[in-house]
Amino acid sequence: MTGSSLPSIVILGGGSAGWMVAAALSRFLPAQRRITLIESDEIGAVGVGEATIPQIRLFNQHLGIDENAFLKATAGTFKLGIEFVGWGAPHDRYIHAFGQIGRSLGLLPFHHYWLRARARGVADDLWDHSASAVAARSGRFAPDPGRPGLPSGLAWAYQFDASLYARLLRQHAEANGVTRIEGRMTHATRDPDSGDIQSLALDGGRSVAGDLFIDCTGFRALLIGDTLAAPFDDWSRHLPCDRALAVPTASVGAPDPFTRATARAAGWQWRIPLQHRTGNGLVYSSAFMDDDEAASTLLANVEGRPLADPRPIRFTTGKRRAQWTRNCVAIGLSAGFLEPLESTSIHLIQSAISRLLALMPAGRAQDDEAAEFNRQADAEWQSVRDFLILHYHLNGRDEPFWRDRRAAAIPDSLSRRIALFRSSGRLFREGDELFTEVGWLQVMLGQGVVPQGFNPLAGEPSDQALSEFLKLTRHHAGAVARAMPTHADYLHRHCATDQRKAS
Ligand SMILES: Cc1cc2nc3c(=O)[nH]c(=O)nc-3n(C[C@H](O)[C@H](O)[C@H](O)COP(=O)(O)OP(=O)(O)OC[C@H]3O[C@@H](n4cnc5c(N)ncnc54)[C@H](O)[C@@H]3O)c2cc1C
Repeated sequence: MTGSSLPSIVILGGGSAGWMVAAALSRFLPAQRRITLIESDEIGAVGVGEATIPQIRLFNQHLGIDENAFLKATAGTFKLGIEFVGWGAPHDRYIHAFGQIGRSLGLLPFHHYWLRARARGVADDLWDHSASAVAARSGRFAPDPGRPGLPSGLAWAYQFDASLYARLLRQHAEANGVTRIEGRMTHATRDPDSGDIQSLALDGGRSVAGDLFIDCTGFRALLIGDTLAAPFDDWSRHLPCDRALAVPTASVGAPDPFTRATARAAGWQWRIPLQHRTGNGLVYSSAFMDDDEAASTLLANVEGRPLADPRPIRFTTGKRRAQWTRNCVAIGLSAGFLEPLESTSIHLIQSAISRLLALMPAGRAQDDEAAEFNRQADAEWQSVRDFLILHYHLNGRDEPFWRDRRAAAIPDSLSRRIALFRSSGRLFREGDELFTEVGWLQVMLGQGVVPQGFNPLAGEPSDQALSEFLKLTRHHAGAVARAMPTHADYLHRHCATDQRKAS
């Protein structure tokens, strides 16, 4: 141990993960701790990662980052959900909207009432009952649409330039006392007895010692992988996409307040509108599509002028079996990777930080703390993985890649969930899992699972009371959305970025 009873912490890597860790630890650990971040400008960060889920709002709030100032600094936009195009069948579309759909009555979730109306042939579009979905469809946004009385049911996240976010977090971290060292790590020295990491050697002959090391070196995984050889669980049999091409394009029209994920012949394409440009990319399986075809597919399907050549990224889906190994905790891409279909990577960084804070060792890292961290991480990653598999499994497309995905075996937990929903419309959120019942509901219905029943408790209101209730929730969602300005107006008035500073 160096100094106080708190470990001195060395963060290796200054991408989004490294600076999120540095900003959060420097904000929440007592002042006597020592936090150092080492990053190499020469190596740089992965440079993708623009869409998020609503939990990021909490992270920023805890750091004291004002929403409008954040969007201004990161050229960001608001995000009310993800629109999925062509997943059920080539021209189908549905949105996984954030927030509530309708309103539960007593113990029973709203969708059972909607399913009852559907069984009678009188249900309208489920998403008409979601303020987020209606606002997304009509290009509107405001955090507080001013409808006192009833909760709006809205929830939102952001789309932003991740490198500008890292820059903003760096300012916070350095203001809170984090020491930044510019340099390239050449090797790590380990204690010959315990096997723990003792220090990191940098180019130029420098060395940085510490008690707890956070590996934020991205796909390189220099500490958890190269140094400690922690095993990697490969999940590509479930999620076989292994490559991505990313290309920014000039904006065309006002930015939509949602991310779009469009299925393509052997993968899917993202579209993420920012204030100053649009992020695009194709995630694909190299077993079903070669790189040239991927590049032409991507470029044929972007809306604006490409601002750079498409950038290739290779990955293996999966995670480190023990993300906390010895005195090293892997956070970010070094911990593992799940494709960005539901924009979960930055969230997984955020939740790893919360776990680390909850399990911060008093001195030398203990096995019990590491074991609990790893148990919680496993459960979280597996449930996100299952949610992603769901999209592929329920596809209604006809290309070889998609036929292969439909036929592939899925985890038992996922089969059980789909079967229960199909037979009775019932959905349950397990433990602390990330996605809510409303999230599972939208993907299942959106991709064609038609429940054969609903909870019999929804049979109680009379037909007339049921239709009045549905009318009310639909009216409310529409009224919330109509009370908003357009998304572009809201951004312009409250969060307009300085285009010269944005990349
Ligand atoms: C194709 C793709 C699309 C994605 N889209 C999304 C998305 O929409 N939403 C989302 O939430 N996430 C997304 N992600 C994930 C997101 O990009 C990452 O989770 C996030 O950026 C964190 O990356 P990182 O900091 O772990 O790694 P990196 O950004 O790669 O940072 C690694 C850091 O380590 C440093 N480093 C490496 N080697 C050394 C060395 N020897 N010495 C010193 N420093 C070193 C580098 O300089 C850099 O600072 C996407 C990822 C990919 C691949």
